[in-house]
Amino acid sequence: MSEFDFDLFVIGAGSGGVRASRMAAGFGARVAVAEELYLGGTCVNVGCVPKKLFAYAAHFAEDVEDARGYGWDLKVESFNWQRLVENKNTEITRLNGIYHNLLTGAGVTLIHGRARLLDSHTVAVGDKRFTSERILLATGGWPFVPEFPGREHVITSNEVFYLEQLPARCAVVGGGYIAVEFASIFNGLGCQTSLLYRGEQFLRGFDQGLRDHMVVTMQKKGLDLQFNAQVERIDKQADGSLLLHLHNGETLETDLVLYATGRRPKLDGLGLENTAVTLDEKGFIAVDELYQTTDPAVFAIGDVTDTIQLTPVALAEGMALVRRLYRPEEYRPVDYEDLATAVFCIPNIGTLGMTEEQARAQGYKLDIFESRFRPMRNTLAGNAEQSFMKLVVDQASDRVLGVHMVGPDAGEIIQGLAVALKAGATKSVFDATLGIHPTAAEEFVTMR
Ligand code: FAD
Ligand code: NDP
Repeated sequence: MSEFDFDLFVIGAGSGGVRASRMAAGFGARVAVAEELYLGGTCVNVGCVPKKLFAYAAHFAEDVEDARGYGWDLKVESFNWQRLVENKNTEITRLNGIYHNLLTGAGVTLIHGRARLLDSHTVAVGDKRFTSERILLATGGWPFVPEFPGREHVITSNEVFYLEQLPARCAVVGGGYIAVEFASIFNGLGCQTSLLYRGEQFLRGFDQGLRDHMVVTMQKKGLDLQFNAQVERIDKQADGSLLLHLHNGETLETDLVLYATGRRPKLDGLGLENTAVTLDEKGFIAVDELYQTTDPAVFAIGDVTDTIQLTPVALAEGMALVRRLYRPEEYRPVDYEDLATAVFCIPNIGTLGMTEEQARAQGYKLDIFESRFRPMRNTLAGNAEQSFMKLVVDQASDRVLGVHMVGPDAGEIIQGLAVALKAGATKSVFDATLGIHPTAAEEFVTMR
């Protein structure tokens, strides 16, 4: 008989924690998972899932517009924000139920409440205490908003999914995934939308050609993009509107301000000080390549560590750790190379592997293949919007190092290409692949 209540106690039932718990229980471990807010974590409740549903909603305005050229005379009577939020909430509740059943069905003990470490083997939730041979920290992240006067007037991605009203005007601050996605969503839903980014150009770290294309595309959709824009102060005015004062002396009046300025690891009240767990220089939980913290009994995965903040990454880390602990013969490390991601703005961004800039910085001599074209669907629609596709190819080996796209369904298209890159595809392999005609995706195998 073990001296502990559990073999593995997981703190946080988000993407990483749920997967690790289920899998460990499946391997015969006695597992508990504590969750203080919602099953499924950020992704299911205030992240990937509701964001994608909102992005679908935002697409319809354009689709209705495009339908005219195809013979449809559709009239948009109105948009009902409350209905969208209610339907989204119903769907999330359904998913929460599925997560509950998956966990309990796998034999995982579910504990509701905030967990606090009392020592390396003991966790308190409320007035209950649990001991475990090992503890896994999967507490994720939380939106970060810098300090400035008027900070209390802004919302973050946590609140945006529950707004009671859709504002007439909206300002989004930031230039990463969430800012670009929500600027698109608000704009698509008919809000007069500004995006304010502190640097020269948003989407830092993405391929430069893609970023340039995105600027033009978003501006043509009527978005007000303001670069080198830093908010100094926000005043709430008598009529409830918000006045943003920028560092260059300009002002912007709006009804809602969404800050999307990154996320920080969620550590508050976690009791790390009662263990040997330490933080790295950026404030994340320090782990080695096996997700081992500086405390031998404690592990950490996902957004609470300095990893790539994506659900598939948290899932993969959870699975790798659990295999290593309970099925070492099946262990394989997470392969972070050639990661594919999408930004679900309108149109989508899909990106995979190296940008041209990263490849050049690493000393590669490159062949660059680029295509800008109007997708067939836009022809009858009378829509001038262009898609962008780019391949970054190593001259010496002919290997495709990077694939980048802006266009409808880029997220869907890039996923298949990720398999090709993982298999080491060369440009000749792309060239030897026959296209599917007529599609936009065929452009990736016809670029010469
Ligand atoms: P989380 O999913 O954040 O889960 C952590 C859980 O721990 C939470 O449920 C939290 O309540 C719980 N918790 C924290 N502290 C305690 C405690 N002390 N006791 C008990 N419970 C605790 N990724 C994608 O791949 N694709 C996307 O399209 C995408 N869109 C996103 C959109 C938004 C708006 C945001 C914010 C994120 C998005 N992400 C997306 C990122 C993705 O959601 C995260 O990378 C992923 O959820 C990280 O998983 P995790 O398990 O590390 O943490
Ligand atoms: P990001 O790290 O992607 O972007 C943060 C943005 O905020 C950057 O543009 C950054 O600027 C800016 N910023 C940071 N600090 C400040 C500040 N003090 N003042 C003004 N601007 C500031 O974070 P997000 O919040 O957008 O998203 C968090 C993570 O969640 C993403 O990195 C991604 O991994 C994940 N995610 C994934 C999605 C997907 O897969 N589709 C969707 C949404 C989120 P600078 O560039 O100058 O540093």
